[in-house]
Amino acid sequence: MVVATGKSILNRIGIGKIKIYKAPTYDIYEGIVEDPAAEVKRFEEALQKAIDQQGVLYEKAKKDAGEESAGIFEAHQLMLEDEDLQDSTKEIITEQKRSAEYAVKTAFDNYAQMFAEMDDPYMKARSADLIDVETDVLDFLMGNDASSMQGTEPAILVAEDLAPSETVKLDKSLLLGMITREGSSNSHTAILARSMNLPSLIQVKDIDDSWDGKMAILDGYNSCVYIDPTPDLMATLKAKYDADLKKDALLQELKGKSSTTIDGRSVHVYANIGGPADLGSVNENDAEGVGLFRSEFVYLNSKDEPTEEQQFAAYKRVVETLAPKLVIIRTCDIGADKTIDYMNLDKEENPALGFRAIRICLTRKEFFKKQLRALLRASAYGNMGIMFPMIISKWELVEAKAIMEECKQELIKEGHKVGKFQVGIMIETPASVFVADELAEEVDFFSLGTNDLTQYTCAIDRQNAKLERFSDTHHPAVLRAIKMTVDAGHRHGAWVGICGELGADPTLTETFLRMGVDELSVNAKSVLPLRKIIRSVDLSKATEWSPDEV
Ligand code: PEP
Ligand code: MG
Repeated sequence: MVVATGKSILNRIGIGKIKIYKAPTYDIYEGIVEDPAAEVKRFEEALQKAIDQQGVLYEKAKKDAGEESAGIFEAHQLMLEDEDLQDSTKEIITEQKRSAEYAVKTAFDNYAQMFAEMDDPYMKARSADLIDVETDVLDFLMGNDASSMQGTEPAILVAEDLAPSETVKLDKSLLLGMITREGSSNSHTAILARSMNLPSLIQVKDIDDSWDGKMAILDGYNSCVYIDPTPDLMATLKAKYDADLKKDALLQELKGKSSTTIDGRSVHVYANIGGPADLGSVNENDAEGVGLFRSEFVYLNSKDEPTEEQQFAAYKRVVETLAPKLVIIRTCDIGADKTIDYMNLDKEENPALGFRAIRICLTRKEFFKKQLRALLRASAYGNMGIMFPMIISKWELVEAKAIMEECKQELIKEGHKVGKFQVGIMIETPASVFVADELAEEVDFFSLGTNDLTQYTCAIDRQNAKLERFSDTHHPAVLRAIKMTVDAGHRHGAWVGICGELGADPTLTETFLRMGVDELSVNAKSVLPLRKIIRSVDLSKATEWSPDEV
């Protein structure tokens, strides 16, 4: 038995075989090949797999985001079935004696270039689609496809590191746990792991390729993984695993009950989500609404920038399904660790302090307007809030609201319905805490993004694993910033919630309640455990603790 230690993201146990995940590579052999016939066969097999994949993606997208959004995969399928394109690729293999990868890259790139040079904007835009399907065929040729990288059986995935853009593409139904050599506990990948209730370890320095296919137990309680565990250990940890499932079942009894303290103070416990695919877990965990819909995951899940119609379909689906519950959708918070190729963002020295979130939206107005139009149209279908991220100055908020108003007037003129909605901002920088009084005059609510607030207040890069020792999630500076924000919001009639990871920290629930926090938005799996704690708190009981002394 081998034991390797790391840092645990969740107190859960995962049992299953290890699958080593490899990041995709695109190193293409450009030399002459000896057996062109074999290369043609490889091309045909990869092509067929890519065609079949479009069908699967079509069905998935139809379920998650509606027929209109799914249409893109039908178009991709037709492109792959194009006989001229297939013949050109095969010609390069047979006549120039090149590898299937080289031929695909050359032929598909040529076609993409042809489209890019056309005058018709619709045809021009097909160029990007060709590059997409080219990547799909290359992925199958080079073993970068999901089934090679993630496998087809449920497994504990082991990787060097996982970016949010990779994590969102994983098939969640095949994940029994996640282990990475790198990573930090406040990264978006860790946040995703928590939201899936997935036992996960980061910073496991001793991971090894030889683990592939071996039986393992990921013990989140003791921050370690056992490879080839002894039968005794397996029996002990399997009993603990079963006990966790029993605890989950007991929490089900809290469904339908209110999140109210013994002395009668009610708080809203909402869920954080990344898109319509998370609707199931909002309902299963009886969240009272959605306090943070990270809309950038709609962008991360898409190969091209999602159109207004595609976004509208996704937002409408969530808002309509959950109505009359409140759904707060945060406008696109891209940048820093959440990068997207089609956004063509420059590489920066300090991306966390760089061109991101509202800064991109206020600079790329047409991009922002597309999202705002989709949001405003979706507002007619339920109870919605629109929230702007990374606001540091009042003028940004005023400008964002003015663009939103411009969109609203355009939509009304075009005959669209726009519903009522709340407007709020994330408080996630010290600057916004210090000017919270001015900002509060402009909004209905504040939502504290404690992940970034901690990063910027303590100058601790949330992505940097080396800084974990210096990082203190309960740092008094952060707790005081939360209290200052709650007070400022309340002074101006704005309600104040927390949507960062700290909101789910059970050791702080009573503190937040005593500070006057109105809402906690947490990963869906934490809703019922949090409700249990809230129902056990008695705020009328005297305490040594004073909210002014955090
Ligand atoms: C936060 O910063 O706390 C937050 C909720 O936003 P994100 O984690 O997506 O940056
Ligand atoms: Mg943030």
